[in-house]
Amino acid sequence: MQKQKTAAEIEAMREGGKILAQIFEGLKKQVKAGVTEKELDVWVDAEIKARGAIATYKTDEVKFPAAICISTNEQIVHSIPSDYVLQDGDVVSFDLVITYKNMKTDSAFTMVVGGKPNGVQKHLIQATERSLYAGIDAIKGPVRVGDIGAAIEKVLSDAKLGIIRELVGHGVGHEMHESPEIPNYGRKGTGPLLAPGDTIAIEPMATLGGEKISVEDDGWTISTWDGSIAAHFEHTVLITEDGAEILTQL
Ligand code: MG
Repeated sequence: MQKQKTAAEIEAMREGGKILAQIFEGLKKQVKAGVTEKELDVWVDAEIKARGAIATYKTDEVKFPAAICISTNEQIVHSIPSDYVLQDGDVVSFDLVITYKNMKTDSAFTMVVGGKPNGVQKHLIQATERSLYAGIDAIKGPVRVGDIGAAIEKVLSDAKLGIIRELVGHGVGHEMHESPEIPNYGRKGTGPLLAPGDTIAIEPMATLGGEKISVEDDGWTISTWDGSIAAHFEHTVLITEDGAEILTQL
């Protein structure tokens, strides 16, 4: 069960989610060959401040050393922006949490630098994004967590992608991570019941290879164990009486 959010708190998440989506729209234009991950982090950090929001990762609650996670190629999530210079054909995932009017929203997307994905990259990215929307579409008002996971899992398994099972979606709002956990697999009709007013982050992660992960020496970066390429899409979603409202989109 989540702590109940007031109408004003949900409205703050709606506004924060729009800000996050606007930052992502601008960020997509900044991503090009020759730019470093650190330069993108600096750009995002300035955008967050300019819009009156807070970079949640940098707060004492999280203590991540940057405003945004930038995970490239075999990196899946939580990667610290580095001096690595992006090249055409790199698969890059961006994951961002902002706090606006004390409320948190969380979103992620994956893109290919240069905008010309090869066949397998396109398959990975499109199917992972499709699985996110399948998870959201499974919400028809009150819903069990397993209904969402089953919908995501079906798309990813049909696409023959590796499903990252050790990392999960989650409730979000007052805190960056609230209950319940939202796995990217599951069985229909099982798991905790989500009710109208609950807000969750749904975030499928998938790979072109296996499902095993490894944590790098920096203690943050999570990569595929077999070095295969990964993708990650995420939205913060409000459960409504008869469906879901995506908060982190324009
Ligand atoms: Mg998340």
